[in-house]
Amino acid sequence: MNIIFVGIQGSGKGTQASVIAKELGLAHISTGDLFRGAKGELGQKLKEIMDAGQLVPNELTLQILKERMIQDDCENGIILDGFPRNLEQAQDLEKEIKIDKVIEIKISDDESMKRLSGRISCENCKANYNILTTPKPAQEGICDKCGGKLIQRADDTPIAIQKRIDAYHEQTEPILEFYKEKLIEINGEQKIENVKKDILETLN
Ligand code: AMP
Repeated sequence: MNIIFVGIQGSGKGTQASVIAKELGLAHISTGDLFRGAKGELGQKLKEIMDAGQLVPNELTLQILKERMIQDDCENGIILDGFPRNLEQAQDLEKEIKIDKVIEIKISDDESMKRLSGRISCENCKANYNILTTPKPAQEGICDKCGGKLIQRADDTPIAIQKRIDAYHEQTEPILEFYKEKLIEINGEQKIENVKKDILETLN
């Protein structure tokens, strides 16, 4: 089964994609994580694009994604998180794999801004926290899970966040119409466990 998770930044789609992927035995592929993990000259180029709040060019995005989708852990299917982000990417993806379901996790723009401004994550194990909402770390700046240092992403400044919110409405929202037959809407403004429950119910 191949599933796409869509949602404005901060909707919790990354968290949900990771949990649901484990539960269903699928590979969780986040294009943002793939780009952040890229090394060398390519990694530097991608970092500059991300820090400016811009989108990585479609051709490069698809090339990196295709390399990831042929790995062994994708055999049972994948959950795509952060891709496709525009209509062209959705059309390109059609040529590569069959998509079974599209899960849209819905939150308001205000909620997105609030969640992203407070978002911090562990530089070691990548666990996520939020100093404005939840979960807050027990000790400021330190990861509960591994003791690593908690840092804010360079592209989580208010200006860069607003750019990403605008880009979502202008570029990503049109894909919802493209996938309307496969689309399932989930209320993202509820407890993480309840969002998870709603998603699993619709998938089972
Ligand atoms: P994310 O972790 O999903 O917030 O993505 C972080 C950044 O990676 C975005 O702001 C974009 O610069 C880039 N990015 C992630 N996915 C895509 C994509 N599908 N197409 C283009 N750029 C992307």
